[in-house]
Amino acid sequence: MPAFTVEHPRNRQAVVVIEKTAGKARAAAIGDDLFCDCEFLDPIVKRAKEFDKYKKAPTVKQLVDRHGWWFECNHCGDSVADHTEDRKWIGNYQVFCNYWCRAAYRKKSAKPKWRE
Ligand SMILES: [Zn+2]
Repeated sequence: MPAFTVEHPRNRQAVVVIEKTAGKARAAAIGDDLFCDCEFLDPIVKRAKEFDKYKKAPTVKQLVDRHGWWFECNHCGDSVADHTEDRKWIGNYQVFCNYWCRAAYRKKSAKPKWRE
């Protein structure tokens, strides 16, 4: 199936959507958190042949490691890209600048432990 990038017109963030048409890609992207205000805006939809090989949208890890995209660190918000040598991951979707940001994120999001 063809792939598209759908870009938020103001904040320049984008998602990859695998859909049959640009219109369907736009509709699918509007359901994404990134586009929460897009019923009032017009997202920029572009054909993205480099992602046609994916059966479903590539993970954040694939976008950073193979396609040169950047994302915000899940802890501090700094940009993380393939040239961020110390980047660390939790799974394939949560990226961090370095070990320390990942550790701080894990500590912050850890569930409280209850004593019996
Ligand atoms: Zn960070």
